[in-house]
Amino acid sequence: MKAPDVDVAIIGAGISGLATARHLDAAGLSVAVLEARNRVGGRLDSVDGLDLGATWFWPNEPRVQRLIAELGVPVYEQHLAGDATYHDPSGVQRLHGNPIDVPSGRFVRGADSLTRAVVAELPAGTVRLSTEATTISFQRAGLVDVVTTSGDVSARHVVLALPPALAMERLTFDPDLPAGLVSLARSTPVWMGGITKVVARYPDAFWRRAGLSGSAISHVGPIREVHDMSGVDGVPGALFGFVPAGRVGEPTVTRSAVLEQLVTMFGSNAADVDALHIRDWRAERDTSPTDVERLTTYEHFGDPRYCQPAADGRLHWASTETAPEFPGHIEGALVAAERAAQTITADIFMAPTTETAS
Ligand SMILES: Cc1cc2nc3c(=O)[nH]c(=O)nc-3n(C[C@H](O)[C@H](O)[C@H](O)COP(=O)(O)OP(=O)(O)OC[C@H]3O[C@@H](n4cnc5c(N)ncnc54)[C@H](O)[C@@H]3O)c2cc1C
Repeated sequence: MKAPDVDVAIIGAGISGLATARHLDAAGLSVAVLEARNRVGGRLDSVDGLDLGATWFWPNEPRVQRLIAELGVPVYEQHLAGDATYHDPSGVQRLHGNPIDVPSGRFVRGADSLTRAVVAELPAGTVRLSTEATTISFQRAGLVDVVTTSGDVSARHVVLALPPALAMERLTFDPDLPAGLVSLARSTPVWMGGITKVVARYPDAFWRRAGLSGSAISHVGPIREVHDMSGVDGVPGALFGFVPAGRVGEPTVTRSAVLEQLVTMFGSNAADVDALHIRDWRAERDTSPTDVERLTTYEHFGDPRYCQPAADGRLHWASTETAPEFPGHIEGALVAAERAAQTITADIFMAPTTETAS
């Protein structure tokens, strides 16, 4: 029997898949990271340094801070100073101080600088972009065959580093995974998969000159909460906010509704945007399964079944949703990556070697 192409095939080049690859590479294993999009990062997605996906990491998250330090990724502190804004049907009020934000860290070049830094360390050719996995077959003993839109890959182990519900919608397993596991995965929410993120860029952080922090809570909407996302020293200025999903299948928010609300809360300067990004994560087919907003059983995050390999020990879970600690966060993705890599290395290095003739 022919030897597998690689030791481990990883589906997804988000932070969980890339961190898994980094651990396995360090252990001396060969890895192929198969990525459907034509970019790495998944839910870490920055445009001109502005984060349309994840923005922050927090002081209680050891793994992300260690990774940042090891890779030398530049970071800075979230701007907190100034008064917050409170918006309800009676109008806009200025709060004393900023009770909305907590201390957190930001990435100077955008959150996807973290994933780009991991890729830069991996052996050339490890990550295969525009390579969507479609079928995972366990029909050959001790092996996994991954069919992709751009050639097939055989491996000893496969890691699902994409949201479980998306994996169930988009991948075919041969043979089927156990019914209980399929049902768990299908009903596990995708963290932030139903959210629209709005980012408005300005020449500078004009609200800071008025003593405002840029953070706001609104009970009027469409943006429910707003935060300062400016660059280092406030240049460029940027505000971002979250808009919860509207009705299934309908667009959540329009450009004019966003600008109108920002002007109401921050004054007429807020209309003068250099750029306005509206990212509806429901529409990202490589993040969110159909009707993602219907998935609300958050108790499934970090379910013990995700901590156990399936398919005779050949299939492993690594997305943030599968982490028992910090699920949903970048830190959770790193927790899950660490677990998948440890399980695989233990299996490969403890299993008796079976040299097979081709
Ligand atoms: C708007 C928003 C704000 C957020 N804010 C924060 C924050 O401030 N702090 C924080 O810690 N976390 C935040 N998060 C969550 C954070 O982004 C995620 O926890 C983290 O990025 C998840 O990484 P992952 O690798 O598990 O999954 P993903 O990043 O989703 O990676 C999965 C990868 O699999 C790929 N893929 C999908 N299907 C296939 C296929 N069939 N074949 C091959 N590849 C495939 C995808 O393209 C993607 O690259 C936010 C998320 C969003 C969307």
